[in-house]
Amino acid sequence: MSIAMPAPNQDVIARGPQIVAALQAVLPADAVIHDPQETRAYECDALTAYRCPPLAVVLPRTTAQVAAIMRLCNDMGVPVVPRGAGTSLAGGALPTADCVILGTMRLRDVLEIDTDNRFIRVQSGITNLAVSAELESHGFFYAPDPSSQLACTIAGNIAMNSGGAHCLKYGVTTNNLMGATVVLSTGEIVEMGGPEAGPDGLDMLGLFCGSEGQLGVVTEAILRILPRPEGARPVLIGFGDAEVAGECVANIIRSGVIPVAIEYMDEPCLRAVESFAKAGYPTCNAVLIVEVEGSADEIADQIARIREIADALNPVEFRESRNADEAAKIWKGRKSAFGAMGKLGDYICLDGTVPVGQLPYTLRRIGELSREHGLEVANVFHAGDGNMHPLILFNANQPGDLARAEAFGNDILRLCVEVGGCLTGEHGVGIEKRDLMSTQYAPDDLAIQMEIKDLFDPQWLLNAAKVFPLQASAAHRGRAAE
Ligand SMILES: Cc1cc2nc3c(=O)[nH]c(=O)nc-3n(C[C@H](O)[C@H](O)[C@H](O)COP(=O)(O)OP(=O)(O)OC[C@H]3O[C@@H](n4cnc5c(N)ncnc54)[C@H](O)[C@@H]3O)c2cc1C
Repeated sequence: MSIAMPAPNQDVIARGPQIVAALQAVLPADAVIHDPQETRAYECDALTAYRCPPLAVVLPRTTAQVAAIMRLCNDMGVPVVPRGAGTSLAGGALPTADCVILGTMRLRDVLEIDTDNRFIRVQSGITNLAVSAELESHGFFYAPDPSSQLACTIAGNIAMNSGGAHCLKYGVTTNNLMGATVVLSTGEIVEMGGPEAGPDGLDMLGLFCGSEGQLGVVTEAILRILPRPEGARPVLIGFGDAEVAGECVANIIRSGVIPVAIEYMDEPCLRAVESFAKAGYPTCNAVLIVEVEGSADEIADQIARIREIADALNPVEFRESRNADEAAKIWKGRKSAFGAMGKLGDYICLDGTVPVGQLPYTLRRIGELSREHGLEVANVFHAGDGNMHPLILFNANQPGDLARAEAFGNDILRLCVEVGGCLTGEHGVGIEKRDLMSTQYAPDDLAIQMEIKDLFDPQWLLNAAKVFPLQASAAHRGRAAE
């Protein structure tokens, strides 16, 4: 394990029974879990290499209950880690031994659907997929579609500013979030934004979206909804050269065509996917899946333009889907890519983002770094917005292999920043990229971010030890206490 966590507060741990009793006094009996056998279920998120059972878990059903928990933890000086479904790949929901996990998964009601004004109001623990399922009969959908959408919650999506394959055209969570109800560390309930076009005042919603549980607990959300498009069609383009595929992505974006999605898979990924999902992909070094949508004429026009761009780069294959079955077949391999890689062994999934024009160079450098570190890497990612997901394969049973994989991952993330990109496109910082934040931000920039946390969470009880480099945050809090 190479990512350090601070020592837990022993005073809080010693007061465990008292803290649990106080929580039981303000919540229904089934909403407080403290049996170590049961709290183990919450000991990690999807960054499973890091685990730590929490002091207790609380599962409120209402905003008022969340407010009561926050007030109590604030008064008793107890750290709180908000949690949705625990699918964070960055360790964002990892507990500490002295913390209360505040799970919002029981807050899952749909409160209002307004198709005239195009919004849905939900409790934040509803899953992403359940939102679009609710909207289907109304002819609407919610655009951000993380691959984890069956499990992940809207709260987690807001905290991580999540994206997905279809965010190239519609934007990520922040572009589709209209309002939120947030409980602050003191238990105060605050409404941000709203269904009206442009609320006055500072953009608090923009500040909270992507704040990774550092500033407050989201309990309700107002989400922008969109009418379902008339039709959508993916094409598959195979290339003999991985860098040329990257060039094709840059050329499509430069041309002004805006597909809904451009997904990229390289040869190691294609090999894994073919033996796992038998999707019938061509044998080549890279495949792009480009999906366009609109009326039949709009779709035909966009596909013709994409074909022209691809043909100039001599693709191995250009496959158009002509019906729903063929479309599903094209997507099948991409959708099972993470599962297919999991069959090959342990992996860590990175999330750096680069300017689209830098994709060919970045892919070449990742290949070189893979040889230098002696570890295999597969690339599968949202290429249209340069959001890369290199999957680094390693053997968790081999001592030292995880640390080697993490060192390789850090080199890739530094490369992303070097070429003008950033550490995270959608998975967030969590613990995974926490200590790399100073690669991207100057000390003054980080200090401003920490001062904002001071304002909302003066005791640093909310999801501390995430996002900000440990040394920098310790020094900052030391100075603030002087
Ligand atoms: C197989 C797989 C595929 C994935 N694909 C994608 C993808 O395509 N796009 C993408 O963006 N992500 C993806 N992810 C990452 C993950 O699903 C997202 O980050 C998701 O938004 C996390 O939601 P969650 O409900 O699981 O949140 P959790 O993992 O429980 O928490 C994530 C963060 O949100 C905070 N948080 C949770 N609830 C609240 C709340 N109520 N208030 C304030 N903060 C809160 C937590 O403290 C933590 O920091 C993938 C993960 C997996 C395992």
